[in-house]
Amino acid sequence: MSVYLDNAATTQIDSEVIEAVCRVMKENYGNPSSVHGHGRKARAEIEKARRTAAAHLKASPAEIFFTSGGTEADNMAILCSIRDLGVKRIITSKIEHHAVLHTAECAEKDGVQLVFVKLTPNGHVDLSNLEELLASGPKTLVSLMHANNEIGNLLDLKKVSEMCRRNGAYFHTDTVQTMCHYKFNLQELDVDFLTASAHKFHGPKGIGFLYINSKVQVKPMIHGGAQERNMRGGTENIYGIVGLAKAMDVAYGELKQHQDHVQGLKTYMISELRNAVEGVKFNGDAEGDSLYTVLNVCFPHTPISEMLLFNLDIMGISASGGSACSSGSNVGSHVLAQLDRDQQRPAIRFSFSKFNTKEDIDFTVSKIAELFAKHKIIS
Ligand code: PLP
Repeated sequence: MSVYLDNAATTQIDSEVIEAVCRVMKENYGNPSSVHGHGRKARAEIEKARRTAAAHLKASPAEIFFTSGGTEADNMAILCSIRDLGVKRIITSKIEHHAVLHTAECAEKDGVQLVFVKLTPNGHVDLSNLEELLASGPKTLVSLMHANNEIGNLLDLKKVSEMCRRNGAYFHTDTVQTMCHYKFNLQELDVDFLTASAHKFHGPKGIGFLYINSKVQVKPMIHGGAQERNMRGGTENIYGIVGLAKAMDVAYGELKQHQDHVQGLKTYMISELRNAVEGVKFNGDAEGDSLYTVLNVCFPHTPISEMLLFNLDIMGISASGGSACSSGSNVGSHVLAQLDRDQQRPAIRFSFSKFNTKEDIDFTVSKIAELFAKHKIIS
């Protein structure tokens, strides 16, 4: 049996998405910038996809800019706001994705002030500290993710956006892990920038978007042709764009079933692990304000702690030791390092999708129980 529980790293592509992508590949090869019929047909597909993405978020199509994914969209939001909006300070957290953290660190080298908001012991943003930081200081961009990709903690976007508005700060949120898992109404939620990536919601890799609030005017990030209304030169990834829109349609069409099913799997895994492994804990706020697709498990320390993930892999179970980019390398998780936890205890992130079943959880927990039965718990 093989079980895939690494859906926060990437997801299985939906068959309807594959069909939509293949259809455009076969039938629609024109360059969307060409003015002839083949070009106009390709352009029409892209603009239809843009309208679809915008409609799901209650945004205007002119506010959606397709990018190569979440990383590019995060870079664009941060770098454009420094260059074009007079931002002199970035407030973010130490548990953001590296697409935000490394971009902010790069900006710091260029003279932008970088400030980290305090976190609570279980990894939530300390909102009173954020309010204090915003009360004074230069023009600020707040960049905070909606859900943490390693531990799943959720941020109250409405509260933070209101706080930013009251204090005259711009607000960027990385919604890569939550897009298509929750509804967004950008008529009501007042954010300046929001980022998404299709491969996290059963769409293709290498395509995402940046939402830029129409009240915010920024200049091009990638120079070249006039694509994406002059904001991003380069022939559009029409296959990816069509696939992204289809994936949004599928996901939002079945959102409630998907939420119930996946939340059920997470809750079930928590209780099964508690029964199977003495002393098991959960990192972050697993049973509180938490993304239902992510469960970060804090296992007891045993002689095979270092090899836990490897052992699961041998048994056909794919999970992750941290974020996708740090799994497989020896670098410890920068997110777990910020939590009040025993850093010696091994942590594994299991992340679920609609394609997972109760049998997947039963198989995984039984294999984990076997491993712990064989090896004495140290602490
Ligand atoms: N932001 C978050 C929270 C993520 O989890 C990821 C992917 O792991 C990214 C950004 C980067 O997205 P992409 O892989 O599309 O560049």
